[in-house]
Amino acid sequence: MSMESYDHAAVEARWQEAWDDADVHRTPDDVEDPTYVLGMYPYPSGKLHMGHVRNYTITDAYARYRRLRGDDVLHPMGWDSFGLPAENAAKERDTNPRDWTLDCIDTMKGQMESMGFGYDWEREITTCTPEYYRWNQWLFRRFVEEDLAERRDADVNWCPDCETVLADEQVEGEEELCWRCGHPVEERELEQWFLQITDYADELLEDIDELEGWPDSVRQMQRNWIGRQHGTHLPFEIDTAGDDGRSYGSVDAFTTRADTVHGATFFALAPDHPIAEELAEEDDAVHEFVEHEADPDGDEPNGVETDLVATNPVNGDELPVYVADFVLSDVGTGALMAVPGHDERDHAFAEKKGIDVRPVIAPEPEEGEDPEAPDVSEAAFTDDGVLVNSGEYSGLDSETARERITEDTEGADEATQYRLRDWGISRQRYWGTPIPVVHCDDCGSVLVPEEDLPVELPEFVNTTGNPLDAAEEWKQTTCPDCGGEATRETDTMDTFFDSSWYFLRYVSPDIEDAPFDLERANDWMPVDQYVGGIEHAVMHLLYSRFFTKVLADYEGLEHREPFSNLLAQGMVQLEGEKMSKSKGNVVSPQRIVEEYGADTARLFMMQAARPERDFDWKEEGVRSTHQFLNRLKNVVDEFESSQSGDRDPIDRYVADEIDAAVAVATDEYDSLTFNEALREAQSLVRTLRQYEEYADVHAETFERGLSVAVRLLAPVAPHLAEELWTELGNDGFVAEAEWPEADVDRETVEQRRNLVENTREDVRQIVDVAGIEDPDRVDVVVTPEWKYDALEIAVESDADNLISELMQNGEIREQGDAAASYGQDLQEEREALSKTLAPDAEYEALEAAAWLVEREFDAPVRVVRAAEADDDVVNKAEPGRPAIDIVE
Ligand SMILES: [Zn+2]
Ligand SMILES: [Zn+2]
Repeated sequence: MSMESYDHAAVEARWQEAWDDADVHRTPDDVEDPTYVLGMYPYPSGKLHMGHVRNYTITDAYARYRRLRGDDVLHPMGWDSFGLPAENAAKERDTNPRDWTLDCIDTMKGQMESMGFGYDWEREITTCTPEYYRWNQWLFRRFVEEDLAERRDADVNWCPDCETVLADEQVEGEEELCWRCGHPVEERELEQWFLQITDYADELLEDIDELEGWPDSVRQMQRNWIGRQHGTHLPFEIDTAGDDGRSYGSVDAFTTRADTVHGATFFALAPDHPIAEELAEEDDAVHEFVEHEADPDGDEPNGVETDLVATNPVNGDELPVYVADFVLSDVGTGALMAVPGHDERDHAFAEKKGIDVRPVIAPEPEEGEDPEAPDVSEAAFTDDGVLVNSGEYSGLDSETARERITEDTEGADEATQYRLRDWGISRQRYWGTPIPVVHCDDCGSVLVPEEDLPVELPEFVNTTGNPLDAAEEWKQTTCPDCGGEATRETDTMDTFFDSSWYFLRYVSPDIEDAPFDLERANDWMPVDQYVGGIEHAVMHLLYSRFFTKVLADYEGLEHREPFSNLLAQGMVQLEGEKMSKSKGNVVSPQRIVEEYGADTARLFMMQAARPERDFDWKEEGVRSTHQFLNRLKNVVDEFESSQSGDRDPIDRYVADEIDAAVAVATDEYDSLTFNEALREAQSLVRTLRQYEEYADVHAETFERGLSVAVRLLAPVAPHLAEELWTELGNDGFVAEAEWPEADVDRETVEQRRNLVENTREDVRQIVDVAGIEDPDRVDVVVTPEWKYDALEIAVESDADNLISELMQNGEIREQGDAAASYGQDLQEEREALSKTLAPDAEYEALEAAAWLVEREFDAPVRVVRAAEADDDVVNKAEPGRPAIDIVE
């Protein structure tokens, strides 16, 4: 079938302009509490890719849906425009990061407009502009003032390739690779600014429980990242071996397994523990290990024995002390008691060094039996259990033993440890927010006063090192405190600083005396629906939560969480693989828009899968989506409104299906399962086309069907929807229309559809099994009323004996054997029973759907009430499953 294809380019351009002219997507400042729908703002790297298109189609569809439902909607867009790639691109192209970035923004904004994304562009923010980043500097000052930021010496992750410091979160995998370039990361010691996110570790952890609108996977990743562990600090006395031992004092070891303390057979210090560093000065072997051999990232634990001993505070054992690279100075106390019998890494080390392995925890024994020490010669036993070989504590369970040992041991304390570290925000890079600090010989590090903000970036200098270091004139300044000569801090901020509060700036993007208008933020926040990639599960989403809590504590924000609901969208793949430029398997959104139009691209993408799932880009799927839109356009084009009389059963069926589509699609849009909502809209269009082919359509019903279908599609295919809305004779934009209302609830829809589908399937089976070639007539016989009553009783009853309960009903009892037999059936299927349509509703639904059977089998269909049919047929009927009688 050949079909005229509509001119999508003209249609899309026309409506984009019309929306723009009419400010359809503007959010006035005076609205009370708009539904805030937000996609994670993009890094302007050049062009939109399919991942962006999917992300922003989801938010746009949802924003448009909420507007159709009558909400005020806030749906802004901006640019995460600082960052290393712009600096690298500028170097390669011999330009500067600003021009390159602004060019990219220009291109991507044009692409977003051509996709029909309905943003309030008057709220656009661009983080690399002084109007934005001055507030980063202002916020930085506030962090310092509230003792939530400090400058300290730190071992930092250093990427030699990018020549920059990376946050822990930017170091990936076991091999510790740079998240940007994949180069192995090294360590360096530098003075760095840190935000004290660890002060909020408990709150960040505990509030995760309340984020019910977030995916469990993201919540779990945040919990793991914070990594809170409860345990014990146990004090070990450290001395040189021998009687005239020199004392190094008491060193605390953190352990979550104080119950295993009797199994400790050595003690280990981190290579940069102060005692290890002291030993390294005198002991060549320790020196060699600390300076050259220690490899905390290695697969195997390594270490060197010292001439020290550590005294076990519980049983007085003297343990050899090692310096070992699997002990990390920034985890716990940098010292640990090692229990090879019950810890795998300790076991591996002990095996390597020939250290004793001693079992002190036995698996929980069977009732009445004694606990038996496990064989730990090959592998550690790491579960909790019952203590053995543990003196007075033998026989206790692990949990009780931990409590007792902590209580009984002098100097021991309960302790909590976190995996979360403070957030180092200093970057030795140009294209970021300058840290508003000057260094003065007399006064030290001094904050730039508020009235001198912003500290603007100087012109870009193309150098191999940090361009800010090379900007001599910019660097020289005067000290705000003493007026003497001083130099500016040349580090810039991690760009995650920018994105930790940008969602607040959209609320009042032009405000000049504060980062955001507090009153409006209190009214408009939190973001109701946030959408972005799962790769932001930890960093961005955790930092944003941290900032929000700090702003609540110190700036009067009345919200402690930024995002009520979060959707992490899946990937768009090609042949099962992630699209990537380097692999060359990229589908260009631009080409798709040119060839098929934005509506096709959007609709295909949204119907292909639930938004959180990955899916494969299929050109044939794109083509059939395009055909669907063309067909819909044809149906509307050819429809002529005319007078219509009463509805017959077919019209009623179609009218019911229109309501059904509204009920189901509304439900699905509410839960962002767009693919289900769209399936409903498309199946409604199919029903309308069949209706038109089979019957003389009832004009009002048909027109309502089209009007509903257009509105159900409008969030996802907005341009064609506008075009058709106008063709159907409506005034105004479909984008601002009212969402259709359904006269039916979803449960009834499902009961009705199951009934019709089961009936059609039963007819098919009978025709098939009986080998009927050309049926003369099909009778569909509805169940007698007493069976509905019996089913209803069965669904609601919790009596053990269902049959005797049924027999208390006189109507049912009168049926004698038939009632007993049906009661038996109900009893057997009791778990699976559910209510069906009421008898009259069932009769009407079948009568309305009869045309589908007539159309399929080319035979007249009669829907017959039980009283008017033969008993032997009636007996086979059940609620929701009429009896079928086919006459040849
Ligand atoms: Zn790198
Ligand atoms: Zn000074």
